[in-house]
Amino acid sequence: MIRIEHLGIAVSNMNESITLFENLLNTKCYKTEGVESEGVKTAFFQVGESKIELLEATNPESPIAKYLAKQGQGIHHIAFEVDNIETELERLKSLEFVLIHEIPKRGADNKRIAFLHPKSTNGVLIELCQEM
Ligand code: ZN
Repeated sequence: MIRIEHLGIAVSNMNESITLFENLLNTKCYKTEGVESEGVKTAFFQVGESKIELLEATNPESPIAKYLAKQGQGIHHIAFEVDNIETELERLKSLEFVLIHEIPKRGADNKRIAFLHPKSTNGVLIELCQEM
């Protein structure tokens, strides 16, 4: 793992949350992007070497909608940047971590991503990401 690339935060109202985080961080949101396959809209803020990613559901079947219904707003996942996502998934699988995605998929912000199941990571949803 190279570094914490971003923290993902589930929000119920993107526009209100963008304003809140712009005020909190004293920096402008530099990008918003939809990920159709995940039913999610994202917004990004740079914080030093890492980022904050806000996540809002765009349909009721979206994993974020289900998360919000169950847990409410809050920290949703931690994303670690890796050099080679396939190699890292192989390594983690061999150590019996449970992969949600065996094959990396396209995520927001020009990344290939894959998630690990929180049941194998002390309840924390972990994202691996690699710059495309
Ligand atoms: Zn993420």
